[in-house]
Amino acid sequence: MAISGDKKKKVAFHTLGCKLNFSETSTISRNFKNNGFEVVSFNSEADMYVINTCSVTEQADKKCRQAIKKIQNNNPDAFIAVVGCYAQLKPEEIASNLGVDLVLGTQEKFNILEHLDNLQKKETPEIYSCAIQEVDQFDSSHSEADRTRSFLKVQDGCDYSCSYCTIPLARGKSRNKKIDELVNEAHKIAQSNIKEIILTGVNIGDFGKSTNESFYDLLKALEKVEGIERIRISSIEPNLLKDEIIEFVAKSEKIQPHFHIPLQSGCNKILAKMQRRYKREVFQSRVDKIKSLIPHAFIGVDVIVGFPGETNEDFEETYKFLYNLDASFFHVFSYSERPNTKSANFEDKVPRKIITERSKKLQKLANEKQTTFYKQHIGQEEKVLFEAYKRNNNMFGFTGNYIKVEAEYDKSLVGQIKTVKLEEISESGNLIVKMR
Ligand code: SF4
Repeated sequence: MAISGDKKKKVAFHTLGCKLNFSETSTISRNFKNNGFEVVSFNSEADMYVINTCSVTEQADKKCRQAIKKIQNNNPDAFIAVVGCYAQLKPEEIASNLGVDLVLGTQEKFNILEHLDNLQKKETPEIYSCAIQEVDQFDSSHSEADRTRSFLKVQDGCDYSCSYCTIPLARGKSRNKKIDELVNEAHKIAQSNIKEIILTGVNIGDFGKSTNESFYDLLKALEKVEGIERIRISSIEPNLLKDEIIEFVAKSEKIQPHFHIPLQSGCNKILAKMQRRYKREVFQSRVDKIKSLIPHAFIGVDVIVGFPGETNEDFEETYKFLYNLDASFFHVFSYSERPNTKSANFEDKVPRKIITERSKKLQKLANEKQTTFYKQHIGQEEKVLFEAYKRNNNMFGFTGNYIKVEAEYDKSLVGQIKTVKLEEISESGNLIVKMR
């Protein structure tokens, strides 16, 4: 890469989608810094803008196009690079947006600096994107955003074939770095005084397939990294959440009692159509196992409403299953049809209006579950890691079991783990705390 001129070039990043994208943008932006760029916020004037895209929902594609338009309107001379999942799936569609100069797919995005010369706008956008079957590289990534928590990428890609999902088409096959290398990366994170890491990937329970290791082995190795005081497991498939993992979390000093498990439907007929690899009974057994060993664990559950063929009875089955489930929160997603997926060709599409109604009903239940879980903890002492974000002179943080707390802002607490007493639920639904 050769960027001419004496003045430091400014680059701004915008991330759409999941925490994995967020960790990758963070790594790419550090590479820019190390190569003499100044990284500025997305709303600032910059010489170059990089949008790291998602394509899980139609909404994500739309947000990407809106971001391109915004840059083009505010700063028409800036160089625009669009990278990541949407760029892998539909490079030509992205290149057709006015103002786009460079489009890089899943693997090429990490080589972005090699594709830059003088940041002059291109007459025709350049596209670099190899076929997804050829994507086999694992590019290490971790975030360092507010120096409190770091999303550490431990796995990429997915070998499953859920009928609604484009991720395997956008990110390729399941792969990971070896445990030793990830432990080294965790040591580096610890050296930056970051106390918590969140293990991130596409299908992290599948970790180890490419290196003949296992996710359980990874947890055991990371537990030993000095300086990292907290480890969280992000979303893990129920069929891969083995007893040994739950038992290890139950006795671990560092792995937090917080699980995020995608259910997607509480109706076995719909689960089969989704080509999920479990029945709801397996999911129930995972929740029962967690709660029997770790009664105070937070369990977050993903659910999709309005999958093709989901009748009122099927939805009520899901609702009833969730109502009776000892979970702490539901992340409710409305089904979004994606091109080139099996479910895009399914009949019996659920009308948008019904999807919205079902979503609202489940969201209400989700809020009730969370309030119940929070109320169970009022009066208790918990350890909280405080974050840098400030709003209305308040600061925020999370307990080990993922209760969001708020306290009066105190700069000296940022990045610190403190024992607090959980007092009452605030208007915004967090728990107000008293310092001990
Ligand atoms: S497990 Fe299913 S939903 Fe998750 S990334 Fe893989 S194919 Fe997509």
